[in-house]
Amino acid sequence: MPSYKAPARDARFVINEVLRLESYGNLPGFESAAADLVDVVVEEAGKFAAEVLAPLNASGDAQGCTRNPDGSVTTPEGFKAAHAAFREAAWGTLSSPAEFGGQALPHVLGFVVEEFMSAANQAFAMYPGLTNGAVSALLAKGSAELQKTYLPKLIANEWLGTMNLTEPHCGTDLGLIRTKAEPQGDGGYAITGTKIFISAGEHDLTDNIIHLVLARLPDAPEGTKGISLFVVPKVLVNADGSLGARNAVSCGAIERKMGIHGNATCVMNYDGATGFLVGEENKGLAAMFIMMNAARLGVGMQGLAQAEAAYQNGAAYARERRQGRALTGPAEPGEKADPLLVHPDVRRMLMDAKAFTEGMRALALWCGLLIDLAHKAPSEEERQQADDLVGLLTPVIKGYGTDKGFATAVDMQQIWGGHGYIVENGMEQFVRDARIAMIYEGANGVQAMDLVGRKLAANGGRAIQALFALVDAECVAAKGDAALADLAAHVEKANGELKAATLWFLQNAMANPNNAGAGATPYMHIAGIVALGLMWLRMAKAAGAALAAGASDTAFYEAKRVTARYFGERFTPDAGALRRKIEAGADAVMALPAEAFETA
Ligand SMILES: Cc1cc2nc3c(=O)[nH]c(=O)nc-3n(C[C@H](O)[C@H](O)[C@H](O)COP(=O)(O)OP(=O)(O)OC[C@H]3O[C@@H](n4cnc5c(N)ncnc54)[C@H](O)[C@@H]3O)c2cc1C
Repeated sequence: MPSYKAPARDARFVINEVLRLESYGNLPGFESAAADLVDVVVEEAGKFAAEVLAPLNASGDAQGCTRNPDGSVTTPEGFKAAHAAFREAAWGTLSSPAEFGGQALPHVLGFVVEEFMSAANQAFAMYPGLTNGAVSALLAKGSAELQKTYLPKLIANEWLGTMNLTEPHCGTDLGLIRTKAEPQGDGGYAITGTKIFISAGEHDLTDNIIHLVLARLPDAPEGTKGISLFVVPKVLVNADGSLGARNAVSCGAIERKMGIHGNATCVMNYDGATGFLVGEENKGLAAMFIMMNAARLGVGMQGLAQAEAAYQNGAAYARERRQGRALTGPAEPGEKADPLLVHPDVRRMLMDAKAFTEGMRALALWCGLLIDLAHKAPSEEERQQADDLVGLLTPVIKGYGTDKGFATAVDMQQIWGGHGYIVENGMEQFVRDARIAMIYEGANGVQAMDLVGRKLAANGGRAIQALFALVDAECVAAKGDAALADLAAHVEKANGELKAATLWFLQNAMANPNNAGAGATPYMHIAGIVALGLMWLRMAKAAGAALAAGASDTAFYEAKRVTARYFGERFTPDAGALRRKIEAGADAVMALPAEAFETA
């Protein structure tokens, strides 16, 4: 059975020594996030994840969710009590506004909690996780009345939220949505239609579920310009806040699926259910995007989380399992064989996993800080730059983070050999659970198109230019430090490949948009390498500073420096190959006629 221990030490290193959260003490909400409080939150969240959620991961997977004949859904044994404990400990309220009962702490802390919970039990973590997106949408676009009715309960996780976009004929292309919303003349709307694949659509964890639903008004324009967003509670809420009649929304079925069995993926039937408009009519997609962006970062964290959980178990197995001898001669001559750890190919996989997970954690937490800076930084210029970077990094964290997260889970399963394929050892669950993160919240190909098609061009390329400048400046500064010079040169080179690929798109995508489509995924991966490179530079620098200051935990900091070197030597060269793929253009990709894909 796999085990999980939250990487609290690493999270504390990123928050306190790399991001230096304490230096933002002048910003609202940060004044209370002193290092000792950060340490307590991180340690306690780690304990909760490891002690309460991780023990339910394999059992929840084996048991799955059950739809009962009356349409109710029973979650796996232990989930209900775990959710009550989660709520009691207020883990879901950390970075929500105090006005609605949140703790108004920096987003960085909310992100740490999200990683730990997802790593311990992704299927469970999705129930409160989706609620964060619903909260963001209501905060940004909900009327005062909607906010007052729903936000305090959602933030307290007393009720949980869902996100209803997908319909049987309509996934990526939301312009095809058919669910109808008819005004009832009393401020409410009757919602009718079928949504599929709705995570946490029905369950027994709370006595109300708040669905955020995309639907179309009777006279709405065609396509995405005619979509509106509605709040549809499972149980209607009376004027005094108490629960009233059951709404006409029900779970028609739960999907049988590859992973995250403990999370109920539901077909939801809306039969004239009462809904309330969020924001303006026909502007629902903009409102939903707020929710989706929050959710996309959460899904990126799932990639990191599954990779981390798999890595811990891959590393443990490599230390224990004995097969063969070290290429350089027996490492442990007293034993009949050496541990797997002596084999460079096994080490390669472990070092890939370590360089990815630690780099990705730093990137995600930096993004958490940027989210706060986008609202709270003292100058307009800083707020704008932070906002630009969050927009740019969101598809990278989601797309690159989950592609690599899955690849890492597969590598860690590989370390277990045939035993990794056997259910009771738990490694295959990491692979199955990690796989969905590449698909939902916009499949990764669509994330790549968002990056290349929208984010690069936005505001005349302001965001990507800001990233280029930031990376260049930090590389130039780091080159003056002998301990960082090699890594800085590698990262600068990868940044150069990203610049060249960007220029190539500028010159070649207007004439043939397929050139952008064919190069989007490689581009997203170069962007991921550069962003992680920047993080490794910062981490190596912080590690060097700690060692120079005589820190006692020398093994931790030395390992950071070695892993940073590994990242420079083994990740950044891929940027050049990826750029060459982009520059090959779309010709060969698109050359075959549709008939060539007919199969016998
Ligand atoms: C377990 C699970 C949970 C889910 N949870 C939710 C949920 O809570 N709420 C919700 O609303 N939905 C949910 N979904 C749905 C999920 O978000 C969609 O499956 C996803 O957005 C892709 O849509 P699709 O499956 O219809 O694929 P399609 O849109 O048919 O896409 C198929 C493939 O084509 C590619 N593609 C499509 N269009 C383009 C394009 N324009 N450019 C390039 N490539 C393109 C995609 O990248 C993808 O690889 C869930 C799905 C699953 C399996």
